[in-house]
Amino acid sequence: MDYFKANKEKLVCLLCGHYCNLKEGQTGLCGVNKNVGEQIECLVYGYVSALNIDPIEKKPLYHFLPRSKSLSLGTVGCNFKCSFCQNWGISQEKKIDTSNYFSPKDIVELALNNHCKSISYTYNEPTIFYPYAKDIAMEAKKVGIKNVYVSNGFESKEVALDMVGVIDAINVDLKCFDEKYYKKLGGKLDRVLENLIFFAKNDIWLEITTLIVPTKNDTKEELTKLATFIKQELGANVPWHISAFHPDYKEQNLPRTSVKTLKMAYEIGEEVGLNYVYIGNVGFDNHTKCKQCAETLIERQYFNTLRSCIKKAACPYCQEVLEGVYDD
Ligand code: SF4
Repeated sequence: MDYFKANKEKLVCLLCGHYCNLKEGQTGLCGVNKNVGEQIECLVYGYVSALNIDPIEKKPLYHFLPRSKSLSLGTVGCNFKCSFCQNWGISQEKKIDTSNYFSPKDIVELALNNHCKSISYTYNEPTIFYPYAKDIAMEAKKVGIKNVYVSNGFESKEVALDMVGVIDAINVDLKCFDEKYYKKLGGKLDRVLENLIFFAKNDIWLEITTLIVPTKNDTKEELTKLATFIKQELGANVPWHISAFHPDYKEQNLPRTSVKTLKMAYEIGEEVGLNYVYIGNVGFDNHTKCKQCAETLIERQYFNTLRSCIKKAACPYCQEVLEGVYDD
């Protein structure tokens, strides 16, 4: 795909839903894509700010190669400005450390040497460094390594389309179900919902996360709308991860999400008919049960998978299919 197009004397960046119109020398809202010499340059290409080997469950992806390791990387910058960001140290950083360059081949080699089954583009929003992520992904595919996106879902239509066949799985942070609040965070709810529907229909394994932030998105009404959207538009088999907030960034005065609120969200997910609802980051209600016979198929503790008894992507007791991507 083309990452930018001309618009009179400006260039339009096609990487995310902001479609920034940039004059020569101007940088977009994300702070890392710049109009330089008749093209838009991705300034963070190759400059990794965080690099770790994580369990895939930490993304979180629970139905995608359970128990495997994922080489996880991010750069700096973001196209959102969430006041509760739990990764703000890199997402809101504009200074690019150019002392450590990793070529796409370097990244794939690291993944291979560390027996990672996937590479995750995560920590900050990957769509703002899609040219880099895609180059890595194409190298990874050559050696059978899969590619995972952890995203706010605000990709441009063009990037979403281009991701098909490149990205194997995605966890999208659906932050709330309120257009006005999305605007405050720096995005648009409609664009995110449209992308979610697109991913669900286009062979990219999809899981959703919602960080429940006290007083911001935690009413029964809003969570019911959000969960109903997942069920009706994406399907009952799309996993929904309910995540607990801890005071961070500009929201130091908010309390942690209470267990009561987390359980309310969990019950809403079940009531609207979602088959896989998880409360991952506090250590309970995160086993996978068969939707037919209710036997426990995958047992987890926090982000670790302790035991899995699935056979050929199905329940060994009643043979019901377990949706997702598995290699056992
Ligand atoms: S990635 Fe998004 S925010 Fe950044 S320049 Fe492109 S359109 Fe603008």
